[in-house]
Amino acid sequence: MTGLCLTLPADWWDLGDDGNRLALAICRVCPARGACAADTAEAEAGVIRAGVAYLERGGIAPICQCGYPDDKRPDPRRTTVLCRRCHVPQVRAWRQDRRRYWAEYYRRRREATADTAPTTEEKAA
Ligand code: SF4
Ligand SMILES: [Zn+2]
Repeated sequence: MTGLCLTLPADWWDLGDDGNRLALAICRVCPARGACAADTAEAEAGVIRAGVAYLERGGIAPICQCGYPDDKRPDPRRTTVLCRRCHVPQVRAWRQDRRRYWAEYYRRRREATADTAPTTEEKAA
């Protein structure tokens, strides 16, 4: 029995590829899954075999609720699985950036309007 992956892009079975979720779904219905799982060595790294995602550094990648394997370094403080696609970065840095952006924007605007605004002497004349 031949595996379904033989006729499809091999990249999908490489961890980190956008086709990973599809690869996992294909493995789930593959007729060769049993034989594939038996053939798969424990030391597989960075690939998906028989519906299991093997991490680059060894071990099995947990599957995020979005369906993609979570190949990030595991965060011990986090109890839920969040893949790189679902992980939302801290917004603190972004808030600072926003503050800096508007501070610069208003500074430039003040400078620009100060050049064109009539001075007190011009107004008096
Ligand atoms: S179960 Fe094995 S043979 Fe089948 S698609 Fe997945 S990796 Fe390929
Ligand atoms: Zn996810």
